[in-house]
Amino acid sequence: MLSFQNRVFYNIGIDLGTANTIVYVNKKGYIINEPSVIAFKSNSEIIAIGTEAKKMLGKTHKDIKVIRPLADGVIADFVAGEAMIKRFIKLAQIPRFLIHKIVIGVPTGITSVEKRAVIESAQVAGAKKVFLVTEPMAAAIGVGLDVLGSNACMIVDIGGGTADIAVINYGGIVVDNTLRIAGDEMNEAIVRYFKNNYHIRIGEMTAETLKIDYGTALSNNHSTMFEIKGIDYQTSIPRQLLLSNDIFADALHEVLNTITNAILSTLDQLPPELASDIIDRGLILTGGGALLNGLDDYLRERINIPVSRPENALYCVAEGTRKILESFDYYKPVLFC
Ligand code: ADP
Ligand code: MG
Repeated sequence: MLSFQNRVFYNIGIDLGTANTIVYVNKKGYIINEPSVIAFKSNSEIIAIGTEAKKMLGKTHKDIKVIRPLADGVIADFVAGEAMIKRFIKLAQIPRFLIHKIVIGVPTGITSVEKRAVIESAQVAGAKKVFLVTEPMAAAIGVGLDVLGSNACMIVDIGGGTADIAVINYGGIVVDNTLRIAGDEMNEAIVRYFKNNYHIRIGEMTAETLKIDYGTALSNNHSTMFEIKGIDYQTSIPRQLLLSNDIFADALHEVLNTITNAILSTLDQLPPELASDIIDRGLILTGGGALLNGLDDYLRERINIPVSRPENALYCVAEGTRKILESFDYYKPVLFC
């Protein structure tokens, strides 16, 4: 039988990512999956949020400010960050007085000032109780790992602005490492690659689309040809090229190498007693950046431990918040506020 609380109130889970925000509402399911972007007019009026605002990035005049408040894993712009959180909760279309709990996945390195800003925004939006969970912890729960047990697991969550590496057991994080190098940096590396090797200028959004459609971590026998259009640096005339997608392994080499080294140095800090858990269970790749074609094989080759990548890699953190809300008392030890 449903309790009074379950019948009357809504609980919300939010993955507040550097690139995308996903909102789950009990009894409704996943209702928002939008870029973490907000656009303001010069008089501070919000003119767009999510996909609409992302389309404006790099294309607007000076009277419109397009902001990614969490781009580097920290809330760089508090006003924009608060406005974005409030607006996303509002888009869930739940009467304020019916919102009970909100669980929000936040970056591991969040400061106490940022925590307060996130909590206050959710409270202003109507939440009676706000709880935070670190993103790798939520991702591990989302993947279905027993985070409260003694067996350690390793999560490598590659988002837009940050890559979070964490080893978890007994409901806590044993070692972690946050890199400000992830999906956005891959886009920038692709832009640089075309500049340096083909003297052609492309935008970061084009680079991101190419990465998603043709990107690969490993050059292989099944390469695909793709077309790229950009502006020639010397003549300023638009130019197009037909290339093999193997070039992405080259373009992304440095970024992937940095992520690999960060994983190795995290493993290096691990108490020896936990080594066997990680060797047996390997690492689990989550986040949108984890979807890069061949990344699992690439890491398996370099680190020599099992690597798995759940199909719903983009949803793992949000799934974690959903599971936390469903078994709230069980997961209480992993929450903070
Ligand atoms: P965050 O948690 O920081 O919001 P996400 O987990 O939503 O980030 O991942 C966003 C990143 O994933 C972006 O950089 C995006 O370009 C990248 N991404 C999404 N799909 C793919 C794909 N198929 N291949 C490579 N990168 C991808
Ligand atoms: Mg994320």
